[in-house]
Amino acid sequence: MGTGTRPLLLVDVDGVVSLFGFEPPAPAGVVWTTVDGLPHALSRPAGVRLARLACTFDCAWCTGWEERAEEQLPRLLGLPGGWPHMTFAAEPGASPRHWKLAAIEAASGPDRPVAWIDDAFDATCEAWAASITTARKVIEMEIPAYCAQWRLVILRGVDADSLQREYALRISAQAGAMENRLDVLEMFRRDCRQATPGGYPRLP
Ligand SMILES: [Mg+2]
Repeated sequence: MGTGTRPLLLVDVDGVVSLFGFEPPAPAGVVWTTVDGLPHALSRPAGVRLARLACTFDCAWCTGWEERAEEQLPRLLGLPGGWPHMTFAAEPGASPRHWKLAAIEAASGPDRPVAWIDDAFDATCEAWAASITTARKVIEMEIPAYCAQWRLVILRGVDADSLQREYALRISAQAGAMENRLDVLEMFRRDCRQATPGGYPRLP
């Protein structure tokens, strides 16, 4: 996991790929399954998005599912498969820091760009992201290029909002900025608004 040259994308499962907390009916595109006797509502749209991101990132499962993620999810969601999984020495709540952080630092090392998708970030995650001091410089260089690319691609009918989110994630990974992703998304949206006064360009 630590030897690749592409940015690393760490993927949580519960709350990201396996959905919960919704009122019936289930969201569109859900695949129902059971794992170890527990029901799960897997998001097919999340699978589609992950398969696209796998073209840019080296993906790894970053979840309490550990090896079960790779055993179950590629065949159920059509993912490319072959993704490694992280293991965690800490239990949730056993450390003052987020229970995944030590393993993430070990997996990504000091230099490798890394992005992390999760539904349970806390202040220690934000502090860790803020400690990556080279990120902002890279972000400021990447945003104009992606903004120009965004304007061209949505002219072909791609959903503008989802593409902004995806590009923000890519920029974050280039920068080695973990969940600076939300800040990047806001910066990216602002720059795109300035570059496209009057709203999104549309097909004639
Ligand atoms: Mg989760």
